[in-house]
Formats: sequence, C-alpha cells, structure tokens
Amino acid sequence: MINVSIVIPIYNEEKNILLLVQNISTILNTTKYAYQLILVDDGSNDGTLTTLQNLAYQNNTIKYISFSRNFGHQIALKAGLDAATGDCVISMDGDMQHPPELLLPMLEKYEQGYDVVYTIRKQHEDIGYIKQKTSSMYYTLLNKLSEVQVENGAADFRLLTQQVLHIIRNMPEQDLFFRGIIKWIGFKQIAIEYNPKLRANGSTKYTYKKMFTLALNGILSFSKKPLYLAAYLGIGFSALSLLYIPYITISLIYGVTISGWASVIATITFFGGLQLLLLGVIGLYIGRLFMQSKQRPLYIIKESNLA
Ligand code: UDP
Ligand code: MG
Repeated sequence: MINVSIVIPIYNEEKNILLLVQNISTILNTTKYAYQLILVDDGSNDGTLTTLQNLAYQNNTIKYISFSRNFGHQIALKAGLDAATGDCVISMDGDMQHPPELLLPMLEKYEQGYDVVYTIRKQHEDIGYIKQKTSSMYYTLLNKLSEVQVENGAADFRLLTQQVLHIIRNMPEQDLFFRGIIKWIGFKQIAIEYNPKLRANGSTKYTYKKMFTLALNGILSFSKKPLYLAAYLGIGFSALSLLYIPYITISLIYGVTISGWASVIATITFFGGLQLLLLGVIGLYIGRLFMQSKQRPLYIIKESNLA
C-alpha cells in the first residue's frame, strides 16, 4: 500500500471543495493508493472553514489546517507540505483547474522511480491571452536572469517523494517560489503536460498584486543579476562621460560660453532617476535580508484537526 498525501491550498473556495474532494475520491478509491487530503484554508472569509470542518467530521481522510489570516498561496502550500506524512505528496489547486485525472499518471511516474513529477500547463484558449503572454514573457526573463530554468506554464501541481519533501520542509526560506526551488534541488524529475480546465466556481484568487509579488519573488530569490546591473550601468556611464572631455576642450578653445541649461537639467534628472532606480533594486534585496533576519514564523495556524 502506498500512502499519498494531497495538499490543497484554499482561499474562499467554499463552492469548489466538495466537488474536488468527490472527484479525487472517485479516482483514488478503487486503487491501491491510500490517501489523505490536507486542505489548507488560507484565511478564507467565506464558508470555507465550516465546509472543511463538516467534511472532516464525516470523512477521516480529510485533514485541514486553517490560518489566522491570508498568508498567500505559496505559504499555504508550505504549511500543507509541512503536515504531509505520505510516502509521496501531491500539491494541487482547489478550483479544479488542475485535473484530478492526472493523479494516476503522476503516481505511475512515482512508481517508476521519479523523485519529482511536475506539470506544465499547455497553451489553452480557456486561459486568457494576456495571462499566457505575460506568463511566457516572465519566464523568458526569469530564465535569463537566474541559474534555474523554469518552463513557461509550470504549475504548482506536482508530486514529490518523501525524501524531497523533507528537504523542502527544512529549507528556511521566507520568500517562497516553489517552481524555482523544486528545480534548484535537483533529483530525478519529469514533466507531464496537461490541459488546464476552467475554474469550477468563483473567480481567480490571484489578484494582480499577488501575481506581481510572486513574479518579483521568483527573480529576487533566484538571481543576483539585478544587483550587478547597478555596477555595470555605473561603469558604462562613467566611460561615456569621458567622451565629454573633447567637447569641453573644443568649447574652451573656441571660447564658446556655457549655453543651454536644458541639457544640464536633462542629465541631472536622468541620472537622478537612474540612481533612485538602482537604490530601489538594492533596497529590495536588503528588505528581504531584513525580513529573513527576523525569523518570524511563516504562517500562523488558528485551528486544525491534525494531531
Ligand atoms: N489561493 C490561496 N491563497 C491566496 C490565493 C489563492 O490559497 O491568497 C489558492 C486558491 O484557492 C487556489 C490556488 O491557490 O486553490 C490557486 O489560486 P487561483 O486558482 O485563484 O489562481 P489562478 O489559477 O487564477 O492562477
Ligand atoms: Mg486557478
């Protein structure tokens, strides 16, 4: 018997939970896999928690963790992974966009000896054009900047063995970007493609702000290159300013008096802006050091039915 833990972060998905749980159990019930669902309520303010409590009361394969507030998808995922006890663990979304039918092919790969089975979302008309486009641009940038290579369309729908799970559990990172971390740890990995489905109920819980934070996190966690940018630009502009010397010399020889403050103002504002931008980049990294140094817990559990 193979024990599988399935981790599902949930934020205001009261209408999807039952559907998802039923779908998963239909698929896994008649198989050799024993499973445990770990549903992580990420500070929902709809009926999510009540639904989870009722489900857990009826069905002992259902475990839930409820946060004291909304901590974000990646952190909810981490909490679920921290609690998982199976031989392997699968993480998936709670809105039915990650098709439960993929569970068996993923488990098959696990039995073939893979340590990580991750999934890649195929291009699909159900996913908006803008989302597909910005996502592919983002991954191109991320892959240029960082040492890990993450495929466009990589999803947080993946299987990890217990060994990999233990490694992730012990990583002290505060700013989580699982798609990168998983690539970074190595081991035997394989990708499966899937056709994303439409969200069963409700609308996306990833606001633009959350999406931007995640995207920035990915770059700042896996790349030091933006910091080098400051140095390179500094050197570049110093070199360029040398070109100014002949101009000044010629002006002096021909007695041209200083004219036009416009160019002076333009230069000052340009370099002022550039300096602020680069300070900002450095500030972002320092901010992360600051947060990491506080060693705050990543999340706070309000209640749970886990022992
Ligand atoms: N989610 C979460 N906390 C958040 C935002 C989202 O736990 O702050 C969950 C959400 O309930 C879902 C999964 O993360 O199960 C993916 O979110 P969503 O489907 O809204 O993102 P999208 O598929 O639109 O990128
Ligand atoms: Mg979704």
